[in-house]
Amino acid sequence: MRVGLDVGGTKTDAVAVDESGTITGRVRLATGWGPDGVTATVVEAIGALARERPGDDPIRSVGVGMPGQVVPGSAHVTHAVNLGVAELDLPGRLQPRLGVAVAVENDVKAAAVGAHALRRRQGETLAYLNLGTGVAAGIVRDGRLWRGPRGTAGEVGHISVDPDGPPCQCGQRGCIEALAGGASIARRWERPSSLPVRDMMDAADAGDHTARRLRGDLMAGVAAAVRILVLTVDVDVVVLGGGITALGDRLRNGVVAELDASAEASAFMRSLHLRERVELLPAGSAAAAFGAALIGAARDREHPQESMIHG
Ligand SMILES: [Zn+2]
Repeated sequence: MRVGLDVGGTKTDAVAVDESGTITGRVRLATGWGPDGVTATVVEAIGALARERPGDDPIRSVGVGMPGQVVPGSAHVTHAVNLGVAELDLPGRLQPRLGVAVAVENDVKAAAVGAHALRRRQGETLAYLNLGTGVAAGIVRDGRLWRGPRGTAGEVGHISVDPDGPPCQCGQRGCIEALAGGASIARRWERPSSLPVRDMMDAADAGDHTARRLRGDLMAGVAAAVRILVLTVDVDVVVLGGGITALGDRLRNGVVAELDASAEASAFMRSLHLRERVELLPAGSAAAAFGAALIGAARDREHPQESMIHG
């Protein structure tokens, strides 16, 4: 059994995967706060999966996807602000305790691996574009995650597409994340709500002026990210995931309309068939946890000696 976890700001999704790559179990828990809380959540989720597994199938590897930066060449996570984690060495804490290899990857990159595997189209080059609090993409080509030498590949959220656009937390103006990130939309919408993006969309439908501007920015920002991913990497498909995709067709239709508008004016853009290359991750998909399980399994096969560590 391979275990994969997607540690999110509020919830942790954990799956058990067998050697054939089939998900055989799934649990969801609230995520604890800070390095100790996150570690305890991971241990609890693994325990829950182990209890529900049939027979006596030992855990052979653990993969964890979590927000924040994963230091290249290590499994240290830094700047996972949503989890209250400034720095965390999860393998250092867990490997001696569990006696198996623990791999850690950025959650968006893990979701890209999972989305690619779930689609079962092996030769496909895929970008997974996460539309959550922030905006970032993970890229899978030749069946492998493409990180780039410094782990920056796919960080399209901080490409500025409008020099006169809203300020971004990174210090630039008009970043894709400033237009289409959930935190930025909530900040610009200014009305208290537990679902600010949905409220903004409803208000836009009702004709509210500010909401219509924000909705236009959201669609333009996502469409810009799709164009950039296709024009730089020539991805076959851009799979949209993350909290904002709960909007479903309201999001997809808006993005497609934006892509169609650019295709209308340009035979070249038309030739890219962008509208056919955008898909939504199915609601409730375990892509990130599944991808984390696959990354953990791959890491274990490449470095089996780490599995020998016992505490
Ligand atoms: Zn930015």
